[in-house]
Amino acid sequence: MAGVPVVVVHGGAGDWRVVFEAARREGLDLDEGRVLEAVRAAALAGLEALEGGGSALDAVVEAVRYMEDSGVFNAGVGSALDAAGGICMDAGVMYSEGPRAGAVACVRHPRNPVVLARRVMELTDHVIMCCGHADRLAEELGLEAHPGPSPRARALWSLYKERLAAGSRPASWWNRNSRAARLLGILPGDTVGAVAVDAQGRLAAAVSTGGTTFKLPGRIGDSPVPGAGFYALPGGAAAATGVGEAIMIAGLSLRAVELMRQGVPAGEAGRAALALLERLTGMGAGLILAEPGSAAAVFNTASMPHAIASPALKEPVASIWKPTMIKL
Ligand code: ASP
Repeated sequence: MAGVPVVVVHGGAGDWRVVFEAARREGLDLDEGRVLEAVRAAALAGLEALEGGGSALDAVVEAVRYMEDSGVFNAGVGSALDAAGGICMDAGVMYSEGPRAGAVACVRHPRNPVVLARRVMELTDHVIMCCGHADRLAEELGLEAHPGPSPRARALWSLYKERLAAGSRPASWWNRNSRAARLLGILPGDTVGAVAVDAQGRLAAAVSTGGTTFKLPGRIGDSPVPGAGFYALPGGAAAATGVGEAIMIAGLSLRAVELMRQGVPAGEAGRAALALLERLTGMGAGLILAEPGSAAAVFNTASMPHAIASPALKEPVASIWKPTMIKL
């Protein structure tokens, strides 16, 4: 089935007002303009891959790689730190052809975990590889090494540490109600993701994250779990963002993709899946979605920076505060 090419990216669901306020207070180089510019450029990087003859898979990997390199989001170079001050990144990709998926969990070595996830899909018989073993694969493949925590990640980590009661044990700093985040008024949802449809109607989804800020060391979220953080089959692709524990319980991305495969347009499928998540877990989240006839970025959190690029649009549509749904 042919498709109108489209790339949708997001920079994470949560309350970005709080993030921007904290950035101003702490003197961090992060504002609305920089975030919008980064999602726009990421969507265009994906579209450029498509226009250069690449597949939907190439497009989502390029878009996510751009955001990992930007340092603006909680992924790749900008990855958030866990409670022990370490980096532990998750990423996943899925391609409608096959269908195939690859993912890495709790890796520290690669600058671009999304590239390693693609390699796991292409080079191994497995879907998810984790920790030191996955890091060794990255080294053997000669993938570029992570430069270490960014100044912004360090500053946010120190802020968390300062504000949490001294002497608390990690298990009480971070529980499934995101207590740590709520204490600070920050839901640290600035993971990144991309979905794409190419001219041949192939679909792909990719995600990458440093995980939730101040998570327990070793915690793995939804981002490397197909069906939870991402999913792509012929007829629909979706990538999720929000508290991974809730997203896994709901199987959020799979539910959205199944609706699109039944003919529900992207925006409606996303809204229905988010409503189900809220009913099941009481949590908000965000989804980007694409199918050969439509694309959308929807959320029931306060905000989710996102952008949509397509030859059907004069220029990318980008927003932080309002959902976007387009017919292709
Ligand atoms: N879903 C990610 C996680 O739980 C966080 C996010 O979306 O920002 O690791």
